[in-house]
Amino acid sequence: MKALVYKSKQHVSIEDVPDPRIEDANDVVVKLTTSGICGSDLHMYEGRSPVEAGLVFGHENMGIVDAVGSSVKTIAKGDRVVLPFNIGCGFCFNCTRGYSSACLTVNPESAGGGYGYSGLGPFPGGQAEYLRVPFADYNCLKLPGTPGDEFEDDFLLLSDIFPTGFHATELAKVGVGDTVAIFGAGPVGLLAALSAKIKGASEIYVVDSIPERLQKAESVGAIGVDVANGDPVEQILELRKKHVRDVQNLRPGAGDKMPGVMCGIDAIGYEAKSDDKPGRDNVGHQRGTQALENLIELVNPTGHIGIIGVYFPQDPGGKSQDEKNGIYPISIGMAWNKGITIGMGQAPVKKYNVYLRDLIIAGKAKPSFIVSHRIPLAEAPDAYEKFDKRSEGYTKVLIKPQLHSN
Ligand SMILES: [Zn+2]
Ligand SMILES: [Zn+2]
Repeated sequence: MKALVYKSKQHVSIEDVPDPRIEDANDVVVKLTTSGICGSDLHMYEGRSPVEAGLVFGHENMGIVDAVGSSVKTIAKGDRVVLPFNIGCGFCFNCTRGYSSACLTVNPESAGGGYGYSGLGPFPGGQAEYLRVPFADYNCLKLPGTPGDEFEDDFLLLSDIFPTGFHATELAKVGVGDTVAIFGAGPVGLLAALSAKIKGASEIYVVDSIPERLQKAESVGAIGVDVANGDPVEQILELRKKHVRDVQNLRPGAGDKMPGVMCGIDAIGYEAKSDDKPGRDNVGHQRGTQALENLIELVNPTGHIGIIGVYFPQDPGGKSQDEKNGIYPISIGMAWNKGITIGMGQAPVKKYNVYLRDLIIAGKAKPSFIVSHRIPLAEAPDAYEKFDKRSEGYTKVLIKPQLHSN
């Protein structure tokens, strides 16, 4: 079959690789109809997470079951399924508690496995024509309808970005009536905004430097905050003033001492830029904890922060030796003083995907508003190049392996 293969830094190509087959009685093989390119694929593409040449990328996968292992009970040939990017076994200590993101049996190297990703075990990805899915009964989420229907792209986003955005709101403990600030309006930040809206948040602020992304945030009911217009924390405090004066002051003491938000989400991670030199093209230099620092300042006492943007324990692109080892200074004193809780880490997709699927089917969520491009597999290397350069409008690219380029 054809697949997108990593060659070297900023070099991927479409090559013939062996067809996946049933290797274990619990496997299925899926013929892929859509596979996403993810911002986190760029970390490998850019050489910022170590990856071996020959790896097939792609952890956001859906399609039609093509072959079924003899022990698989609930999944049949012809079923339409979407796969969580994390591979779980379903029976280990962590999977049984809902933490499929830290499965203890699928990856011999550490807790947690996934498709086509460095450090997540020996599983080729799905930017290809076919994919082997281990522990199929546990990992496949069945979908109604037929390939290419009105929900195809919404369902694909159940593999990672929608549950990941939702998980960010869980980490930040977003609930009914809450005030929320999200730093980063990439796909995850935007779907965190959608999730906060679904949960009934009263105010949602989304910070970014790209006007088109801010418009998308506003299309789901958030208030866009453009860093080109100055310090985002000050902008949000200013925007909140009227509410603090007219409504929040009805709660004794909640005026001056609670001017910020209750829930903050870092949807940028270690690629954050400092805000000391605002401007659309170059929003400062890289400062891995910029979004987190802003949130520690902005979040009210007793509030919550969710860090969904990625930080790596090893980063060859780090400036200092500490950064290369994933060590960053943060204002822990202020965070402690405010009693802020901070949650972080990969989303356990399986915990949420069934509910989010049902919201899509019920017409209550349409996450595919973030998708910018739909391309055949042959055009994927070019899309990586453009996505990596953050070329105009490249927000979310979906590969359609059954589509053929002219
Ligand atoms: Zn992803
Ligand atoms: Zn497990």
